Order: sequence, then structure tokens, then C-alpha cells
Amino acid sequence: MVERGALGGHNPVKATAPPPFAPAARALVVGLNAQDGELPGLVAAAARLAGHVDVLDDGLRPDGLLAGAARRLCCAAPAPSIDALADWIAALARDYDCVIAAADSGGKDWLPRAAALDGAQAFSDVIGIAGADTLLRAIYAGDLIETVRNRQPRLWMTVRATAFRAIAGAHPLRIDQAGPATGASRVRVLGRQAQGGETLKDARALVAGGRPLGSAERFAAVLGPLAERLRGTLAASRAAVDAGYAPNSWQVGQTGQIVAPGVYVAAGISGAAQHVAGMRDSGLIVAINTDPDAPMMKLADIAWQADLFDAVPALCAALDARGVTIAGAAPDYSRCGPA
Ligand SMILES: Cc1cc2nc3c(=O)[nH]c(=O)nc-3n(C[C@H](O)[C@H](O)[C@H](O)COP(=O)(O)OP(=O)(O)OC[C@H]3O[C@@H](n4cnc5c(N)ncnc54)[C@H](O)[C@@H]3O)c2cc1C
Repeated sequence: MVERGALGGHNPVKATAPPPFAPAARALVVGLNAQDGELPGLVAAAARLAGHVDVLDDGLRPDGLLAGAARRLCCAAPAPSIDALADWIAALARDYDCVIAAADSGGKDWLPRAAALDGAQAFSDVIGIAGADTLLRAIYAGDLIETVRNRQPRLWMTVRATAFRAIAGAHPLRIDQAGPATGASRVRVLGRQAQGGETLKDARALVAGGRPLGSAERFAAVLGPLAERLRGTLAASRAAVDAGYAPNSWQVGQTGQIVAPGVYVAAGISGAAQHVAGMRDSGLIVAINTDPDAPMMKLADIAWQADLFDAVPALCAALDARGVTIAGAAPDYSRCGPA
């Protein structure tokens, strides 16, 4: 096993709650589509900019847990369509200098529309804030960081929540009702079906597999026991998803989910830029790969040159032999397998 120093796995932009660049400014964090684990990062980004931060969400989350926010607006009913949501947020935005959403498919859908209704251009994939009007954003799947300056009266942006460290502590929020958004929908949702267990973004540890796993059965049989021992969940490269070894909801990367668990094990994943774009902010990155020159091996904090079919069971056995147990609820793998 080769130990390497931390390279690109840690984002130097992360910092603990410095004062806002624009103390008099007001920011609205729209958390309607965001997953629970993302809200603290979004609020931290907002608090970097503005002295007053409100959060708009669906009212389903526990109260008072968002350090950095002053007020929580609970939306009584979901917007009937993306257009209606964009109209509504554009109207709410008149009370704010800055509107922030998660850089996921939901945020990327409605936020630019709302910004356009405001006559503004939106900034996407923001990973750092260098001044009241100066942002850092990831481009080319995170290979380059672009510095941009906003010259518009209101700032609209989607933020990679994993790039901002949550503000420590918790204090009670003032809670108000907002909405609901109104408007007609041209699309009717007929049903939704979960594809996996715990969502990737909420997992403390992810065990991700790539193309060499070879089948859905081997994916679950080889990686599942390690995920269980780490009290984590499974994830996959796009090659593994495209081959049908793992469901879409497990895909990490540019066209999958952006995650930052405490531990990320990449077993048989080359580390293509599009994959790394989704996991580079993870805490401890462990790569298991037969090729010592694979990009993931260079990125990893621990790079283990080995065949994953030997290494992963050996790692499980070593954890068992040392009696290593990780506190927390055991994950549910009953739904592992093909999509
Ligand atoms: C527009 C676009 C968007 C994309 N979005 C994403 C995305 O969101 N997420 C994503 O993951 N990819 C994405 N991709 C695909 C990406 O470019 C790669 O093709 C993909 O990540 C490769 O997956 P992989 O590492 O599993 O497979 P491979 O590239 O085939 O790599 C397999 C790795 O496993 C190693 N290996 C082989 N056998 C073993 C073994 N027995 N034990 C240990 N190691 C072994 C090999 O050395 C190699 O490094 C995107 C591509 C495009 C063009």
C-alpha cells in the first residue's frame, strides 16, 4: 500500500465562517430541491456573502438546525411546474440581493429561468466566494477554476454545497410561511420510485465501483460487505452504471451526483475528470487500482495498487480481525442490484 500526501482531494476554498463580504446584503437560499446534507453548505456560502440569510424550504426538515440563517420560509405546497417555481422565486427575489440554489439538476433547471425573469445572468457551479461580487466557479468538469465578477444588481447562482464547510453550531430560526407558488402546469408527475437506499449525499462513507466489477451481482457481493463495515453506501462510476452494474442514482460525477463523504473508496475507478468532478471534495480518498498511474491513484490520500477482487475482501477481513466497528445504523442493501 502506498501512502500519498493529499493532492487535489481537499478544496482549499473551504473555511470556517469568516465575516460576510457584504454585511448589509440579504441572501435567499432556496432549498426546495436540495437534499438535507446540502443545506448547511448552501447557507455557509450565503453567509460568506450576506449579513442576513433566509432559507426557503418545504417545511419538512427539523427546525432550528441551520447555523448561519436568520429565518426559515416554509413553502406550503410544491410549485406545480418549473416555470411556476421560477416565476415565484423571481418575485420573492425582489427582497434580496442574492439568490442561491444547489448546483444539482433541480437548481440548474429553475434558477437560470428565474434569473432571466429578473433580467440577470446566473452563475453556475460556484465553489468559492472571494469578495462581495467575486466568485470562483468550476468549469470543464472541475479541471479549471474560473474567477468571475458580478456586475448585476442581484446575484443569482447555483453552488456546490460540498465546497463550503457548514457553519458550526445551531440556533433557533424564525419560521414563516411562504407561498405556495401558483400557475398552471403542462406536465403531470405520475409517480416517483426510489432506486437506492440512503442517498449518496447523506452518506458518511461511500464505496464506489467501476467498470471492472463486471456485473451487478459482483458489484453488490464484492463492495457491499465493505460498505456495510464502513456504515456507508455504494456508489458507481458512469461506466458501471452504463453497463447496468449499478442504478443511475449511484452515479458520482459531472452527470451524476456531487458528493463529499468523510471516506470515499474508489475500487477499480480510473479517475476520469468527469468522475473526479463529483467526489474531489471527499475527506479521505482511498483508491484501489491495478494501474499505479491511474489518475485516481494520484488524487488519493491512500493509493493501493492491487486487484480489487483480492483487496476489498482483504480489507474487510482486516477490519474484522482488528475488531474495527463504526457507530451508526447498519445500511439497508436489500435494494442493491441492477436498476
Ligand atoms: C460528457 C461526459 C460526462 C461524463 N460524466 C461522468 C460522470 O458523471 N461520472 C463518471 O464516473 N464518468 C462520467 N463520464 C465517463 C468518464 O469519462 C469515464 O469514462 C468513466 O468515469 C470511466 O469509468 P471507470 O473508471 O469505471 O472505467 P475505466 O475507465 O474502464 O477504468 C477502470 C479502472 O479500473 C482499473 N482496474 C481494472 N481492473 C481492475 C481490478 N481487477 N482491480 C482494480 N482496478 C482495476 C483500471 O486500471 C482502470 O483504472 C462522462 C463522460 C462524458 C464524455
